Amino acid sequence: MKLEKFAVISDQSAARGVVHWFVTPFDQETVAGPKGHRIDWVRGLPFIAMHVACLLVIWVGWSWLAVAVAAGLYCLRVFALTAFYHRYFSHRAFKTSRVSHFIFGFLGCSAVQRGPLWWAAHHRHHHAHSDEEDDMHSPKQHGFLWSHFGWFLTPQALPIRWKLIPDLARCLELRLLDRFELFIPVLLAGMLYALGAVLGAYAPATGTSGMQMVVWGFFISTIAVYHVTYFVNSLAHVWGPRRYVTKDDSRNNWLVALLTFGEGWHNNHHYYPASARQGFFWWEIDVSYYLLVMLSWLGVVWDLRGVPRRVKLGKGKRVTPVAEEKPVPVPSAS
Ligand SMILES: [Zn+2]
Ligand SMILES: [Zn+2]
Repeated sequence: MKLEKFAVISDQSAARGVVHWFVTPFDQETVAGPKGHRIDWVRGLPFIAMHVACLLVIWVGWSWLAVAVAAGLYCLRVFALTAFYHRYFSHRAFKTSRVSHFIFGFLGCSAVQRGPLWWAAHHRHHHAHSDEEDDMHSPKQHGFLWSHFGWFLTPQALPIRWKLIPDLARCLELRLLDRFELFIPVLLAGMLYALGAVLGAYAPATGTSGMQMVVWGFFISTIAVYHVTYFVNSLAHVWGPRRYVTKDDSRNNWLVALLTFGEGWHNNHHYYPASARQGFFWWEIDVSYYLLVMLSWLGVVWDLRGVPRRVKLGKGKRVTPVAEEKPVPVPSAS
């Protein structure tokens, strides 16, 4: 691991780090240079604070309701990230309406992993350069911890890679989500506080309170979503078997697949990223795909792209990374 990248920074002033909590630089050029590859710990303070805030559980305690809300929000947000941020926005593996992509983009923002444009652009870059020197979160190139959380705390990771998302950048509603993504988790935390406070006052048998609901429903749930999704970048590139020959070190990892609703079948995914399903065989559990199939029955999504048999058998030609494909037409509003 290249420890110097974790060292305390850089010529980034603390003030600039604080400004970057709210306003991100527009392009890579403004944050280029050797220091751009090192962690900006001032900007990372909210990320650290989110983890520390979980310790508040010592004071607020727990209730069945607060734990259930935390679990429900975990499931909802893992689905929004894996099915929509990843399979839809990054890979266009199925179609949906602009209303639906806004709703699931909104839910994805509540997971505090930036907006769908930032996320999809960085992910397309990952597929185009996976485990090469340019891959910002390759454990092979930069070490496990860096691939898990270090990379996105660097100035270089801050801007949106606009060139890689011409199809998404055309949608005003998505640009709005990315511009105001910070408000969505704040709104979620506020709603959880209000819910807990009302229940604490009018339904004391629930044993909850405003702060207890925030600690479980927001902080603990979000930190759990953080680390399971980071595992796809870190663990699923180092631990597990490789069914297909790909140019990267991607693995199929059943544990990551269970935690992330199917994203752990990462070697399958790198071999054929165009598919809406990442578990290629019936025994490869892929909850996000099952939920997408159910949404297709309701007409919320359609044209789910499958895996051709020749690809499943490893005979298919490896597909072009999505970032190099021609932009896919944006679905029309419904
Ligand atoms: Zn990968
Ligand atoms: Zn992908």
